[in-house]
Amino acid sequence: MKLIILDRDGVINKELKWVENPEEFEFIDGAIEAIANFKKAGYIIAIATNQSHIDRGRFTVADLDAIHDKMLKELRANGGDIDKIVYCPSFDNNDPRRKPNPGMLLELLTHFNVKPNEAVFIGDYERDMQAGYDAGCRLILVENKHGEGEYHNMPDYLKEKTTFVKTLLEASKVIEKWN
Ligand SMILES: [Mg+2]
Repeated sequence: MKLIILDRDGVINKELKWVENPEEFEFIDGAIEAIANFKKAGYIIAIATNQSHIDRGRFTVADLDAIHDKMLKELRANGGDIDKIVYCPSFDNNDPRRKPNPGMLLELLTHFNVKPNEAVFIGDYERDMQAGYDAGCRLILVENKHGEGEYHNMPDYLKEKTTFVKTLLEASKVIEKWN
């Protein structure tokens, strides 16, 4: 394992319908510790997040940057960091970068020159697992705000490739054992 790719909402921070400003960005318990664990273990850490409210006109790239500045400040103060954040502003489901399409993940693999099987994508919805599957990454699903149903309702070909855990902190402990 070289590269950890994280979905953002529901994995790092609590999922709201929209997170539109820094005040609404709230870390999930244990997420900061998990990212510090990844950093300590020497992994490259990236985020791939759908942010269609940009193209919907609900907020701007500057607003998104402000949210990410707050997130990075808190992570760095606690021994974590994110090496690269990519986002898809589009709400067009045919956009190759919008999850469940794998474009953002493929972009990160190319950028860091990492083979798909040396990367894991950690998300909280089936669309994340589908994107990771199509990119050839290893897959971890964390329980989302609706409970375990997301995992149980996934098609078998995704379930077979997916490790299901409760939280990002638990995911960090699973990955420790992969090495
Ligand atoms: Mg999510």
